[in-house]
Amino acid sequence: MPLIAELRGALTANAVLTAREACVAFECDGLTAHRRIPDVVVLPSTVDEAQAVLMICRRHNVPVVTRGAGTGLSGGAKPVAGGVLLVLSKLNKILELDPVRRIARLQPGVTNLSISNAARPFGLFYAPDPSSQVACTIGGNVAENSGGVHCLKYGLTFNNLLQIKVLTIDGEMLVLGNEMQETSGFELLALLTGSEGMLGVIVEVTVKLVPRPERVELLLAAFDDVGRCGAAVAAIIAAGIVPAGLEMMDQLTISAAEAFARCAYPTDAKALLLCELDGVGADVDWQIRRVSQILQELGATLVRKAADGAERDRMWSGRKSAFPAVARLAPDYYCMDGTIPRRRLAEVLGRIDAMSRHYGLRIANVFHAGDGNLHPLILFDAGKSDELERAERLGAEVLELCVAVGGTVTGEHGVGVEKLGPMCVQFNAEELSVFHAVKRAFDPGELLNPGKAVPTLHRCAEYGAMHVHQGRLPHPELPRF
Ligand SMILES: Cc1cc2nc3c(=O)[nH]c(=O)nc-3n(C[C@H](O)[C@H](O)[C@H](O)COP(=O)(O)OP(=O)(O)OC[C@H]3O[C@@H](n4cnc5c(N)ncnc54)[C@H](O)[C@@H]3O)c2cc1C
Repeated sequence: MPLIAELRGALTANAVLTAREACVAFECDGLTAHRRIPDVVVLPSTVDEAQAVLMICRRHNVPVVTRGAGTGLSGGAKPVAGGVLLVLSKLNKILELDPVRRIARLQPGVTNLSISNAARPFGLFYAPDPSSQVACTIGGNVAENSGGVHCLKYGLTFNNLLQIKVLTIDGEMLVLGNEMQETSGFELLALLTGSEGMLGVIVEVTVKLVPRPERVELLLAAFDDVGRCGAAVAAIIAAGIVPAGLEMMDQLTISAAEAFARCAYPTDAKALLLCELDGVGADVDWQIRRVSQILQELGATLVRKAADGAERDRMWSGRKSAFPAVARLAPDYYCMDGTIPRRRLAEVLGRIDAMSRHYGLRIANVFHAGDGNLHPLILFDAGKSDELERAERLGAEVLELCVAVGGTVTGEHGVGVEKLGPMCVQFNAEELSVFHAVKRAFDPGELLNPGKAVPTLHRCAEYGAMHVHQGRLPHPELPRF
């Protein structure tokens, strides 16, 4: 039987889309520069239906790209030629929420924010909080090992996971992890977390819920020098304090956020730090005193504590809407995501500024400073001749700089199709070969999200040659492929 007929036979009515006008809605994720209208979109309503889709695709030797909400920023959910797009947004039930065991068991399409909303009446919350949390799904969060403001203190998605259920390409169910967090055998839960839909399809997720802190306070500090702000970040952590959030913005982002959210940011500041401190009363008092002292010592021109919850929300609103705020500054923006050691923040920001001038493209910086996770937003106009290409080259150079200073090409947005080139700089041929071997062990026919996340050795050879041709590789510390 032909593929489409088999899919229609296995799913409920209207769950298989082939019309171009219906499929176009799924042509890209948040990385809108990379698009492809899918040939077929399937929207299963049950795990059994998802399982049937995989078995049919395996039999027909057809690639499968899994999609949650499509908020990914690296093209991970971009459809592939001749493939099926498996959209899990209808699998959106909270299966269990147990305040005594402090766990939530979820279908993969449950949105991140709705977990905390459901846990709120019990004084609990789900800690990882990507800025896209109103829309992104827990399945996508696991597949990307997503982070957020609170991850400095509470850990990334992986640190808050207990168990996942995964369908292999053959439709077999694997149950990885457990509530006791005991590991015997290989730690496959870790392997599947961040695997970007390339090893299996996550159909159930059990997460930890944590108690809402008794007290939360927010400090805002302004600096007239980016370097001093970066030094303050390192000094706070060095003092043994782990803030619930430690976020930094540069001047372009501060102005854009203020214009967008009217959050009373000092727009003349060169850099701004938001430091959230939580815990029990007396401990938070001590943290406020110590952090304020460090900020003053490092030359903050302003240190302000939010007077109450309303002011705290207003101060956060600028940071949380920074992406859409910056998006108003140019027709297009390209969000990068690299991680560096905290102590090199000031130096790296200086070098990014120099690259911005070299390429003639503005960059707004807003990032999880406590984790060293940078998000340079490169502003460009795709309608102008070579601006997209320049933005992509600039982005790749930023990521290579992250590797050169001892960091990585992604912090939380994944590799997708976007960072395949820079991956060749972070990993050598032997390491990439191990990744490919793992992929083949789970998916011998290479049908799950093919062409994403791990570059082929051939591609890396081409990437190296392109570097030489373009006269790039300005970072002497970089390993060469
Ligand atoms: C404005 C904005 C702000 C953002 N802020 C953050 C942030 O602060 N932190 C952060 O980490 N990310 C952030 N992101 C990126 C994005 O929201 C996250 O990567 C999120 O986890 C993606 O979830 P999703 O459901 O949209 O997944 P999708 O985009 O649909 O998919 C992402 C990847 O996961 C795979 N996948 C999805 N579901 C499954 C599944 N059930 N099983 C197997 N594979 C699956 C897909 O194949 C793809 O490779 C932001 C994005 C936007 C647009």
